[in-house]
Amino acid sequence: MKRFNEEGAPLSDGGGDPLQLTSGGPGARLIAEMPKAELHLHLDGSLRVTTALELAATRDVDAPRTYAEMFAALVWDPHPTSQANLLRAFELPVALMQDAEALERVTIELIEAKASDNVEYLEIRWAPLLHIQRGLSDAEAIEAVCRGRREGMRRTDATVGLICVAVRSHPPEDNRRLAALAADYQDEGVVALDLAGLEAHYPDPLDHRAAFEVAAAAGLRTTVHAGELQDGGAGVRRALELGVPRVAHGATAIADPQLCADLRAREVTLDVCPTSNVQAATFARLEDHPVAALHRLGVPVSISTDDPTISNITLSEELVAVSAATGLTLPELWRINLHGLDVAFVEPDRASELRARFRRWADWAPELAPADAE
Ligand SMILES: [Zn+2]
Repeated sequence: MKRFNEEGAPLSDGGGDPLQLTSGGPGARLIAEMPKAELHLHLDGSLRVTTALELAATRDVDAPRTYAEMFAALVWDPHPTSQANLLRAFELPVALMQDAEALERVTIELIEAKASDNVEYLEIRWAPLLHIQRGLSDAEAIEAVCRGRREGMRRTDATVGLICVAVRSHPPEDNRRLAALAADYQDEGVVALDLAGLEAHYPDPLDHRAAFEVAAAAGLRTTVHAGELQDGGAGVRRALELGVPRVAHGATAIADPQLCADLRAREVTLDVCPTSNVQAATFARLEDHPVAALHRLGVPVSISTDDPTISNITLSEELVAVSAATGLTLPELWRINLHGLDVAFVEPDRASELRARFRRWADWAPELAPADAE
């Protein structure tokens, strides 16, 4: 049954969930078991604490030597600060992942962790040029993750795409070279080029236009991080000038109705990460995050965790928390989840297989897709 407000407009595309979405309740268990797609996930934000301890000890990296201290070093303080401070949380993981074995291992463990949360399709992104401080070549920093992907997929049922991240603060020429190199690994699972890093100091993604042109010409897909600063949507608008089909984050677009209309018209998906946005102080509280408003405006969105270790959250936990804070219903979460497959950087045949598998699973849970919600 649709619910309507006093003017007769539908409140949401689902509503009246018979499964309560409270932590530990049947709705939360359903979300945990639901097959999921996650599109916005950073390798260096996903390090297991025990793995970090082993890498620190065996690589002689100056880092904590006990679980509690390492947890405190890797997991972001829950008090919101800024994107700059959140980015600092990556310094230790990056320092620990400077050889092929470490990169490969962390990739395998991330795929296994996601598979255990029933994330059956995921895209993992990392910045190869941040992992060459101890002698790896650019190519080796890509190949190690490709090997980890292959082994992770062998051990699980997950389908995994890889996204090479160009860093905003790096010289545009370095990123152009990275784009060309990344394109050589499409047979090994590299599917796209991304741009990430400090927006405040390096606001203009168009500085790296050449890298994006090289990537697109070579057959890679593209995406850009934008909208972690409250700037009225200006960062998201600039990202669109690169012609990307997906923006990483981008929820600040809500401030600009015309931008929201453009995103809808151009079918550009925002891969939002609500908890991460709160930790970066983009939005003060989860309750203030506009993911539900964007979805109900018709702006395409997907929901991801960004950095499961730094944010200390699984995708299932993220979905339950977002639902509780923003009112997104189970049918809405399910449609957002399926949309992730529609815009995934994966071959159409594989996407169709995954979509069929997801829908078959949903036959067990008619609450996810009530007949009047389509
Ligand atoms: Zn991100």
